[in-house]
Amino acid sequence: MTETPSDKLLDYDKNHIWHPYSAIGADHPLWRVTSADGVKLKLADGTELIDGMSSWWCAIHGYNHPAMNEALQAQLYNMSHVMFGGLTHDPAIKLAKLLVDLTPKNIETVFFSDSGSVAVEVSMKMAIQYWHDKQQPGKQRFLTVRNGYHGDTFGAMSVCDPVTGMHSLFSETLTKQYFVEAPQCRYEDECTEQDIEPMKQSLERHHSNIAAVIIEPVVQGAGGMRFYSPDYLKRVRELCNEYGVLLILDEIATGFGRTGKMFACEHADIEPDIMCVGKALTGGYLTLAATMTTREISETISGGNPGLFMHGPTFMANPLACSAGVASLELLLDSDWRKTVKNIETRLADNLAACNELSCVEDVRVLGAIGVIELKEPVELSEIQPRFVEQGVWVRPFGKLVYLMPPFIISDDDLDFLTQALYRVLSDSC
Ligand SMILES: *Cc1c(COP(=O)(O)O)cnc(C)c1O
Repeated sequence: MTETPSDKLLDYDKNHIWHPYSAIGADHPLWRVTSADGVKLKLADGTELIDGMSSWWCAIHGYNHPAMNEALQAQLYNMSHVMFGGLTHDPAIKLAKLLVDLTPKNIETVFFSDSGSVAVEVSMKMAIQYWHDKQQPGKQRFLTVRNGYHGDTFGAMSVCDPVTGMHSLFSETLTKQYFVEAPQCRYEDECTEQDIEPMKQSLERHHSNIAAVIIEPVVQGAGGMRFYSPDYLKRVRELCNEYGVLLILDEIATGFGRTGKMFACEHADIEPDIMCVGKALTGGYLTLAATMTTREISETISGGNPGLFMHGPTFMANPLACSAGVASLELLLDSDWRKTVKNIETRLADNLAACNELSCVEDVRVLGAIGVIELKEPVELSEIQPRFVEQGVWVRPFGKLVYLMPPFIISDDDLDFLTQALYRVLSDSC
């Protein structure tokens, strides 16, 4: 059998397959990956790239991990899928128990779904059903901060940043939610009354319509890679209590050690009413997410009318995905992940500091295993991306942001290689 030449495959892709936020037929550079192992992606022409993205926060243990592979193989021969209506299985139960034990104390129940966006939809429906069953059916809207990102489905989109989320494009369909300015106090700063005032005013004015505040704790991801003060989050928690509004924390990007804590809400020492996890949940092996909540919210919904939570995906708690989740969490818990992430944080901070001197750089910031270089002008992706590949690294900037969130297993040498490559590319283009 003769193989289709590589350029033909790429041509087919360009003309028939959508990629994330892409256009059909566009002449964007595209690389064909044939395998991945550890922190390296291998391209069709044999080039190896050190992965700086963890496939968008997911692949915390790297690729082709023996323990992950073994767990999935074992589950594959048991059953890869079975419906979750009226049936259950050990991978779901084990994963739920791990999650309930790991998350803040008040979090006790788990709803599994297939992606982060769906987990966010589910969290919003939970909040609405809760207030409905508390005889407050007017509470159906959400309050959030600008620069947020919560996913691409309609509910999730309605609480994404209105500008980057292109709200005007969907204005007839998108639910109008309440927005306040993004937190201005940086991670290391304290939060002043002035910082929290917009949130406070909006709650004061609209709390009778608001089911929940939804926010990414401490790190705003795809909406700007901003790190804000845990103090701000603490104040949001207090205000939610004061005004009778639930707090939904979207930990889909931040969960499972990425920020240096198991969950980012631990930086502020607070408990959410509802929390969403996804991305690194399966170590990047399969798509799975979870929406978790308290006993009180679960019992209110279950004892209300219709007395059922109104959601149930076909692939709910897929056994293969759940077993990947169990294996990934066990790997994480068996490792000294705090030390690992701390080491990455220190090294990123040391190595990226030099970028501060480049004329095109606006800001350099590091938290946990996340390093961000904010430029003064947006990058031209189709120009800069091939230069990263030439340097042997996989880095995918967006807008003004060039950022790294490598797999936790990355060695010091590979991390140095990654940051040096990044510096070279940026200094060439400054
Ligand atoms: C990625 C992300 C989502 C959406 O998850 P998908 O699996 O892409 O649907 C939601 N919230 C946050 C904070 C994310 O980073």
